[in-house]
Amino acid sequence: MIVLGIETSCDETGVALYDTRRGLLAHALYSQVKLHAEYGGVVPELASRDHVRRLLPLVRGILAESGLGVGDLDGVAYTAGPGLVGALLVGAGVARALAWALQVPAIGVHHMEGHLLAPLLEDTGSEPPLEPPFVALLVSGGHTQLVAVDAIGDYRLLGETLDDAAGEAFDKTAKLMGLPYPGGPVLAKLAGEGRAGAFRFSRPMTDRPGLDFSFSGLKTQVLLAWQKSDQTDQTRADIARAFEEAVVDTLVIKCERALQQSGHRRLIVAGGVGANRRLRSELVERGARIGARVYFPRPEFCTDNGAMIAFAGALRLQAGLSEPDEVRVQPRWDMATLEAI
Ligand code: ATP
Ligand code: MG
Ligand code: FE
Repeated sequence: MIVLGIETSCDETGVALYDTRRGLLAHALYSQVKLHAEYGGVVPELASRDHVRRLLPLVRGILAESGLGVGDLDGVAYTAGPGLVGALLVGAGVARALAWALQVPAIGVHHMEGHLLAPLLEDTGSEPPLEPPFVALLVSGGHTQLVAVDAIGDYRLLGETLDDAAGEAFDKTAKLMGLPYPGGPVLAKLAGEGRAGAFRFSRPMTDRPGLDFSFSGLKTQVLLAWQKSDQTDQTRADIARAFEEAVVDTLVIKCERALQQSGHRRLIVAGGVGANRRLRSELVERGARIGARVYFPRPEFCTDNGAMIAFAGALRLQAGLSEPDEVRVQPRWDMATLEAI
């Protein structure tokens, strides 16, 4: 079964073709980062309009690259939420229209389920192959959650952030030290030039039981440290490093706790912050120490992409799940309400 996946929940237009026999055939991504940079954040109306411009050419491109025509599609999957309503409607409208014209099924995918399943797209070489049960750490721009996954579609929330998401904390912290938009990846790169021990920030909520997170206080700690400092490039890098260490350490501590609490021996990590190199290496190291194996998507599939949507949609369509022919999106959508497959 060949499924076209479409992602338009925010500021990335992502498309992909996933074949349930042969795997990922092609994928393409257009990022609107430059469009929103002058505003310092995503402008929803501009995002929607740009998805309109980019989507069809991208779809034509991956079909041509794979030597396929629209007639070869057996289904269409699109991000139905959570996300910006106008942006979601562009993907949903195109996906539903295409599926209707071709008389193939279409399915709305939960964006965070897409992120969560992205590590399963990779050939990890593990025996038996990676499948539930496991614990998932979802760390993106809008979410920081620990989820117990007993089956695909069966998601039990173990803990989540009470305020800023980890990616949001990276972005805001970068901004307050004058780094260009979007700051998260820039801050992470800068952290590589920081000196160990020059600054130290707290590990929020690790001194009490539970699996929730809170990252907004860290931002304030950074602001105070930055304002009191000499504000040189080296100091900025030193603070970036200490901030990254605090976030990573906090995530690692809670992941270990979630593994112990659930009894699972496998952890998967997904979402944009999953591309962070320190997080990847520290989690692998801690996993090895406690007898747990840790899985990640390749870095480009940590942030938003069409491949994860094509894959998640293909699993649901293959399981025979179907939906009424209507263009419906859910800007807010609780993952716990999904149907297990
Ligand atoms: P959500 O998926 O919750 O709706 P989103 O789609 O905006 O949010 P993603 O695309 O998964 O989020 O990830 C983007 C986030 O990941 C940004 O906040 C960005 O700063 C962060 N990020 C990307 N790369 C890195 C990195 N190397 N280190 C830390 N953070 C990073
Ligand atoms: Mg984005
Ligand atoms: Fe995302």
